[in-house]
Amino acid sequence: AAPLRLVNVTLEYPDGGGTTTALDRVSLAAEAGQLVSLVGPSGSGKSSLLATAATLVRPSRGQVIIDGTDTAGLTDKDLAALRRGKVGIIFQQPNLLPSLTAVEQLIISDHLRGKPAKAARTKAAELLDVVGLSAGARKLPHQLSGGQRQRVNIARALMGSPKVLLVDEPTAALDHERSASIIALLRQVTTEFGVATVMVTHDTEFVPLTDVVATMRDGVITAPVLTRNGAQ
Ligand code: ADP
Ligand code: ADP
Repeated sequence: AAPLRLVNVTLEYPDGGGTTTALDRVSLAAEAGQLVSLVGPSGSGKSSLLATAATLVRPSRGQVIIDGTDTAGLTDKDLAALRRGKVGIIFQQPNLLPSLTAVEQLIISDHLRGKPAKAARTKAAELLDVVGLSAGARKLPHQLSGGQRQRVNIARALMGSPKVLLVDEPTAALDHERSASIIALLRQVTTEFGVATVMVTHDTEFVPLTDVVATMRDGVITAPVLTRNGAQ
C-alpha cells in the first residue's frame, strides 16, 4: 500500500464565529519511489495539505494514513513518535543551527531520535555524499551557499530513513540553475530510497520531472495526473 494516503480530508480553521475550509474532502496517495508535485495558486490549500500529511495538524474529518497506520486513533505522543520514525519534512527555509557544521546538523537530528552516535556518523557521511556535499561536511551554514544549505536540509530529512518526505517550495530562494539541481536531487533520492515524496512547488517547469501532478484550487484537489512513466 502507498506509504502516504489522505482520504476525504477536510480541514477547517476557526475564523471569527465561523470557519474557513482550507481542505475540502481531499484525497491523495503517494507510492514508494513516487515524486508527487502539488501546484496551485496562493491560498488554495497547499500548505494546509502538507501540514496535514505531516501530521502537524489534525484534519477536521477524513483519514491520514502513514505507512498503513490511520493517524486518527493515535494520541499526540504516539503521533509524534510516528512522525519522527516515518516522516521527513523539508521546509522552505533550511532552519539550520548557526553554530553546527553540516555533518553535526545531521548527527544531532538522529541523536534527538535516540539513535547511537556511531551509526549516525556513518549515515551522515553517506547522506552528505548522496547530496554532493562531502567536501562541505565541516562547514558552518554561513560558509555554505543557499543551494548547499538546502542540500544539508534534504540530507537531514533523510537521516531518520523516512517512508514519506514532504517538501515545501524547496527552490523558493534559489536561482534557476540551483533550483534545477535541487529538484533533480529530490527526484534522485525519492527513487534511490524508495520514499513517497510530495512537493509543493510554484515552478511548473519542473513538473515533468515528477511522477504525478496534483493541482489545488479553493481547498479542492483535482484528480492527480500521471506526468511520467516508469515511476517504480
Ligand atoms: P497555500 O499554501 O496554497 O497558499 P494555505 O494552505 O496556506 O494555502 O491556505 C488555505 C486557506 O486556509 C486560505 O484561505 C488561508 O487563508 C487559510 N488558512 C491557512 N492557515 C490558516 C490559519 N492558521 N488560520 C486560519 N486560516 C488559515
Ligand atoms: P546562493 O549563493 O546559493 O544563491 P545565498 O547564500 O546567497 O545562496 O543565499 C541567498 C539568500 O537566500 C539568503 O538570504 C539565504 O538565507 C536565503 N536562502 C538560501 N537558501 C534558502 C532556502 N532554501 N529557502 C529559503 N531561503 C533561502
